[in-house]
Amino acid sequence: MSAVLPTYARAPIAFERGEGARLFTADGEAYLDFAGGIAVSLLGHAHPGLIKALTDQAAKVWHVSNVFQIPGQERLAQRLCEASFADRAFFTNSGAEAMECAIKTARKYHAVGGHPERYRLITFEGAFHGRTLATIAAGGQAKYIEGFGPKVEGFDQVTALDIDAVKAAIGPETAGILIEPVQGEGGVRVVPDAFLRALRELCDDEGLLLICDEIQCGMGRTGKLFAHEWAGVTPDIMAVAKGIGGGFPLGACLATEEAARGMTAGTHGSTYGGNPLAMAVGNAVLDHVLVPGFLEHVQEISLRFKQGLAALVDGHPDIFRGLRGRGLLLGLECVVPNTEVVAAARNAHLLLVGAGDNVVRLLPPLNITAEDVSAALEALEQAAIALEANSARSA
Ligand SMILES: *Cc1c(COP(=O)(O)O)cnc(C)c1O
Repeated sequence: MSAVLPTYARAPIAFERGEGARLFTADGEAYLDFAGGIAVSLLGHAHPGLIKALTDQAAKVWHVSNVFQIPGQERLAQRLCEASFADRAFFTNSGAEAMECAIKTARKYHAVGGHPERYRLITFEGAFHGRTLATIAAGGQAKYIEGFGPKVEGFDQVTALDIDAVKAAIGPETAGILIEPVQGEGGVRVVPDAFLRALRELCDDEGLLLICDEIQCGMGRTGKLFAHEWAGVTPDIMAVAKGIGGGFPLGACLATEEAARGMTAGTHGSTYGGNPLAMAVGNAVLDHVLVPGFLEHVQEISLRFKQGLAALVDGHPDIFRGLRGRGLLLGLECVVPNTEVVAAARNAHLLLVGAGDNVVRLLPPLNITAEDVSAALEALEQAAIALEANSARSA
């Protein structure tokens, strides 16, 4: 019996080391990693620039408290703000903590504005915002909420991307609207740009805050630094994590100066959040993402990958029904159970991860090469053929 709490359904495989888009077992078997630690390994494994940043900083100082100045934190905050809509950043160790900060920032904004009763957020069906008590309530999925005591108050979920439904959900206690521009866990569901624009307009009309959860879809994943940029609108508050640390546990809550007006000294904090080691890695990740041409590479390689995937779907209609997603946050809609596709791909030495809506997610490193994309397409072809042979046998 494992001494680890059995909260995960783990695949029967372990890895000893990684290099670029590949992971290696102790036996030296190579696997193409298109799960990416779930959109975390933004620059692949064992990236020399990230190793250098981490080890250089490790020899200086790992951790000091946020009661002191942390120059790396000032620098990363400044750079993230210059590259986005934001004026302020708060650093965390995970996505859920970045979301907690976003929720608290929204509530505090109205409280200091004289409306403490405005604490509720409108959220969307299929959302995933994390596993803390508040973020499971925000996500609204019964299987994550049940058995954990009273659901945290303050989240009103609408079932469709329907602007009239959102309007109908607004009340005197509404503080804002919380949305993932691309739902990751929910099944790689891209929010139409027009809908995000309509939400922005609605927030402006009603004095509400627009909060984007870009924990999965941000940091260049969709081919823009942040996914909301595709719609040509900006949120007031945004949670980021996953790719921002390239594998080092790091998250951030970004906000405009106005939206962050209530978050003054003493209102929020974190022991580890933004420590020197995390900031060294975060700055090094950003060095690469901000290189001119990096995001264009994501868009170009995505186009190539999507063409190959569309051909795969056409060639295997009994296995796949379609393709969705943006940039390198892509999803194959499956006909057979997505768990079977993930397992068959793993047999072909390609690592993928499932999502809602019976989708499998493809989340390669953003610096992936055309050769590795071709190798992934070949593995998927093999997996599809194996699955067809399976269903022919059982028919
Ligand atoms: C992963 C994820 C989270 C939670 O992040 P953790 O680091 O696991 O706490 C929240 N929102 C979205 C959209 C995510 O993909």
